[in-house]
Amino acid sequence: MNDRSGDEVTVVGAGIIGVCCALWLQRSGCKVTIIDRDEPGNGTSFGNTAMITPGQVVPQALPGLLKDVPRWLLSKRSPLKIRASYLPTIAPWLWAFSRAGKVENAIAVSRALRSLHGPTFELYAELVRGTPAEDFFEKCGHIHLTAVGTKSRSPELTSLLREIAGVQIEHLSQDDIRSMVPELAPIFKSGILMPGNGRVRNPHRLVKILANEAVRLGARFVKADVKGIVVREGRCASIRINGEENPVNKLVISAGMGSRLLTEELGMRIPLETERGYHVTLPDPGIRPSKQVIVRDWGVGVGPIDDALRAAGTVEFCDVNSKPDWRRADKLLARAKEMFPSLNTAGSTRWMGDRPSISDGLAVIGKPQKFQNVYFAFGNAQHGMSGGPMTGKLLSEIVTGRKTSIDPAPFSPDRFN
Ligand SMILES: Cc1cc2nc3c(=O)[nH]c(=O)nc-3n(C[C@H](O)[C@H](O)[C@H](O)COP(=O)(O)OP(=O)(O)OC[C@H]3O[C@@H](n4cnc5c(N)ncnc54)[C@H](O)[C@@H]3O)c2cc1C
Repeated sequence: MNDRSGDEVTVVGAGIIGVCCALWLQRSGCKVTIIDRDEPGNGTSFGNTAMITPGQVVPQALPGLLKDVPRWLLSKRSPLKIRASYLPTIAPWLWAFSRAGKVENAIAVSRALRSLHGPTFELYAELVRGTPAEDFFEKCGHIHLTAVGTKSRSPELTSLLREIAGVQIEHLSQDDIRSMVPELAPIFKSGILMPGNGRVRNPHRLVKILANEAVRLGARFVKADVKGIVVREGRCASIRINGEENPVNKLVISAGMGSRLLTEELGMRIPLETERGYHVTLPDPGIRPSKQVIVRDWGVGVGPIDDALRAAGTVEFCDVNSKPDWRRADKLLARAKEMFPSLNTAGSTRWMGDRPSISDGLAVIGKPQKFQNVYFAFGNAQHGMSGGPMTGKLLSEIVTGRKTSIDPAPFSPDRFN
C-alpha cells in the first residue's frame, strides 16, 4: 500500500470527505495539502446524528415523493420543508430527484449506495488504527420506528432493495421495541431493527482526529478560503487565496456545499443543492438509548454523542445563504420529548447544517473529462459519515490511476452532460 506515486495533491475541504480523501491519498504515496477556511470538521460534519449505516441502500426519493410537495409547502410539522420563495429554483432539481426513486432507477442507485456504504466499518478501522479514535465505533444497531397513524412510503420496494443488497433486518413488535429501548414512549406499534448499522462516538472529534493524523503523516493544513480556480489549457494551474494565485499540481474539490461555487468557477453545472438539517444536543439527558432510534415519518434520529444525547434530522430546501429557521430545531426537541418522555432537555443547544445533495441521489466522485488534474468528491447528502471512507478510497484510486475498489461509473462527474 505504500508505493510512492509522488503526486502533489491539494484537497479543498476538511470535512469527513476531505480528510478521508487526504488519508487515502497519503497511503497511495501522495504529498497532500489540505485547505479549509475553518478548522477541520466545523462544517456539516460537525453536528450530524453520528449514524454509521452500511445498510443504507434505499434511495431517499422513493416513488410518490412529488405528491408530498404541497404538504411540505403548507404543513408546520412536516419533516420536509420547502421555503416558498425557493420553489421555482429547486423545482427542476426536485423533479430529477424524484426520478432517482423510480423503480427502474432505484435498483441501480441502491447498488451504488451499497458499494459506497457497505464496507464503512472495515475502512474506518483501517483509518483510525493507532489514533485516539480507535474505539469510537460501535455496531449497536438502528431501530426504525413507525409512528402511529403513518404509513411507510413504498415498503415493498424498500424491502426488495434491502433483500437484493443482503442487508439484514428484523421486524419488531411493540414488546420487542419496549424491551430493546425501554426509555421510549409506548406510542410506536412496530418497527425494524438493522443490526449491522451503528454509530461513531462523536463525528466532530472523529474528523479532527483524522485531520491530525493526516498532518502527523506529513500533510500540510492551510486555513484559507479558496476564492477562485485558474484554468489554463484544460489544467488547473492555481487556486486563488487572499487575492493571490497559489500553484497546484492536482486539485481535489471536497468542500461539501462549498463545492457548488468552486465547480461553477470551472464552468461545470452539477445539480448540487442543500438538504438543510438541524440538531438539538442535550448535555445531561438522563437517558442513553442502547440503539440509535429513527422515526422516519418525523424525520428524526436520536442517539448519544459522548455523554450527551442528540436529536437531529428534518430536511429544508432553501437558499444555501439563507438564515437558519430555528423553529425547526425546536420542533426536533419537541419530537425527542414525545419519543422519550423522561428526557431532561435542560441546557440544550441548537445547530444547523447543509447536507450536500445531488439530484440523482449519488455523490460525485472522480475526474471530469474536461480537466486533466481536477477531481471531485462531494454530494454525500444524508450519509457522508458513512460514505466518507469509501469516497476517499475511490477518489485516491482515481487520482493515482489504480484499479478501483468499486465501480466508479455511477459517481462520474460527467453523468449530467
Ligand atoms: C442534521 C444532519 C444529520 C446527519 N446525520 C448523519 C448521520 O447520522 N450519518 C451520516 O452518515 N451522515 C449524516 N449526515 C450527513 C453528513 O453530515 C454529511 O454528508 C457530511 O458531513 C458531508 O461532509 P463533507 O466533508 O462533504 O462536508 P462538510 O463537513 O461541510 O465539509 C466541507 C468543508 O469544506 C470547507 N469549505 C467549503 N468551501 C470552501 C472554500 N471555498 N475554501 C475552503 N474551504 C471550504 C468548509 O469550511 C467545510 O469544512 C447528517 C447531516 C445533517 C445536516
